[in-house]
Amino acid sequence: MDKFILADMTWPEIQEGFKTAKMVIVPIGAQEQHGHHIAEGCDSYRAKYFCHLLAEKCYPDVMVAPTINYGVSPHHMAFPGTITLRPETLQALLEDIVASMTKHGIKKFLFVNGHGGNTAAIAVAAEQLARKYNAEIAHTKFIDAAKQTIQKEIDSEYFGHACEREISECLYLVPEIVRQEHIEVGKMNEESFALAYKNNPFVRVVYDFDEITNNGNIGDGTKGSYELGEKMIQEALANLSEFVADFIKTNRI
Ligand SMILES: [Zn+2]
Repeated sequence: MDKFILADMTWPEIQEGFKTAKMVIVPIGAQEQHGHHIAEGCDSYRAKYFCHLLAEKCYPDVMVAPTINYGVSPHHMAFPGTITLRPETLQALLEDIVASMTKHGIKKFLFVNGHGGNTAAIAVAAEQLARKYNAEIAHTKFIDAAKQTIQKEIDSEYFGHACEREISECLYLVPEIVRQEHIEVGKMNEESFALAYKNNPFVRVVYDFDEITNNGNIGDGTKGSYELGEKMIQEALANLSEFVADFIKTNRI
């Protein structure tokens, strides 16, 4: 495991690793409430352990940078323990990581995001940094790479936070952060304006989670399972490892 995790390697080991690894993967998570049944590091842990599996699959072509354990989470601030970054802070962190790594000769990056609230900030950072540092930067909300399984296996009207999808991912990747005895169905606020527009195909509204859910989660966590987690993570790993293989062999700059 320590052959591709920068935090667990010495500089001579990293120097050796960079002879084959031309790309760095950056896991990005969040510290935010996930209902009564998942610990608040959920998105950080999922991103981290997913990246370890991805790097293992892509060895020796990639290395994994330390996880960014905070994200853009202002919409969860009504719940205790959430810590939010400003989008600019996340972008500044990404810039410093890219600036440092390009000094070491790395020109390709994959930002692997575990939290939807980070998506807009990451997209802007990728756009700016790729041009500023003459780098090739791809980014993914990694669970989007498991679309087939999600469409087939999940049928809740609303899901996406501390739900059957996230609980299943956790049961597969990091089961110790799930409180099985406290798993609850999302208690939705059906009166909420934001909820009425949550699944709208062409409009997004900015909202707080306490507006739409009374217990912090959305979806039906009771339907989560290790097996569903395994299916989703394996689908995402297959799709993203295929992308990585393409990305590293194509030189566009
Ligand atoms: Zn989450």
